[in-house]
Amino acid sequence: MVKKINSKLNKLFKYYSLINHNFIYDKKSINRYMPTKNLNNKDKERLLKNLKNSIKSIKNCQLKKNAKNLVFSDGSLNSKIMIIGEGPGANEDKEGLPFVGRAGQLLNKMLLSIKLNRKNVYITNVVNYRPPMNRKPSEEEIERYLPFLVKHIEIINPKILILLGSTALNTIIGDQEVISKARGKWIRKEIGLCKTEVIASFHPAFLMRQPDQKKMSWIDLKMIREKIKELKIKIES
Ligand code: URA
Repeated sequence: MVKKINSKLNKLFKYYSLINHNFIYDKKSINRYMPTKNLNNKDKERLLKNLKNSIKSIKNCQLKKNAKNLVFSDGSLNSKIMIIGEGPGANEDKEGLPFVGRAGQLLNKMLLSIKLNRKNVYITNVVNYRPPMNRKPSEEEIERYLPFLVKHIEIINPKILILLGSTALNTIIGDQEVISKARGKWIRKEIGLCKTEVIASFHPAFLMRQPDQKKMSWIDLKMIREKIKELKIKIES
């Protein structure tokens, strides 16, 4: 079953990677060769606004029907480090921001341990509305939000993409591997128009349940710190 879902997601992911979503979500005239690399702040703000509006106008979505707020993103749109979680919880739904609850507090500490903070990374989730009772988003829900996520990654165009937990891992890598095996490895990946270095690590909510795994998470965090140095990424505070 999991295998089937992963292979379907993998195919979908490849399909969405072939599409330039600017054609779909941006009302501006089509520029087939628009490089995402050179987007300035204004372009990014405009594209993110369009993307947010596209998500807001999703129809017949159970997640949206049950949620209070759209949870789009937090952090700096200029950051070269993008973090993807699973989906909003109760606190995120209330505040309309990702990772503001207990898992978010742990994420803040994890970031601080490698001299980062929420203002110098960019954070979003696989799905943008809270799944009821904090359940995992379903295969259909993930499929539905995947084109938005691909577009989101294209706009931010990160050099480092951090996938927190199995939902983000399976959505982006489309891998059958479990997070415990896939974590802590760099993968060079093309996601839509964005070429980036991807690493998966444990979700902070999982680390709260399994604190003994924090030592593995620390290994991943140090790998991220090293990659920031290697790629000469400037951390702007
Ligand atoms: N867990 C997530 O995956 N995302 C959030 O925004 C909050 C908790």
